Amino acid sequence: MAKLTILEFPDPRLRTKATPVSAVDDRLRALIRDMFETMYAAPGIGLAATQVNVHKRLLIVDVSADKSEPIALINPEILEKDGVIVSDEGCLSVPGYYEEVERAEHIRVRFLDRDGVAQEMEAEGLLAVCIQHEIDHLDGKLFVDYLSEAKRQRIRRKLQKERRHQSAAVVM
Ligand code: ZN
Repeated sequence: MAKLTILEFPDPRLRTKATPVSAVDDRLRALIRDMFETMYAAPGIGLAATQVNVHKRLLIVDVSADKSEPIALINPEILEKDGVIVSDEGCLSVPGYYEEVERAEHIRVRFLDRDGVAQEMEAEGLLAVCIQHEIDHLDGKLFVDYLSEAKRQRIRRKLQKERRHQSAAVVM
């Protein structure tokens, strides 16, 4: 297993639209294991392949408190959405920022599981929000895109400044 590097906003690679997974094989399962290791270590409750610079339609989630409900969704597709939920969202690719985003409260999603078997799942609340957030990543979209341009620019400038400080510290 290996921990992967998570791309951070405003890295342009986060804007890549992911292509469908054509084969669910051992290589993909190894990537899924590495993504779980990376997500749990961060720690986070969701991670899209886009965030680790793999532009395939794959995401993982685990919204449990004790890492007991890992779900990998390959080629996920939302079939139904209803209701509205507004929650504070954060993102491993936008570290340190939490902003309110409006999503569907309840979704039905179709995907392939780790064995390549087609599944359908109902999700609501946090799990529904998390899946919608991760599917956005696969489409090159970030939660900051739902904010005002001024707010997004402010976050971009602050993150770039913080990263300059970090790299200076490493050099010294
Ligand atoms: Zn995210």
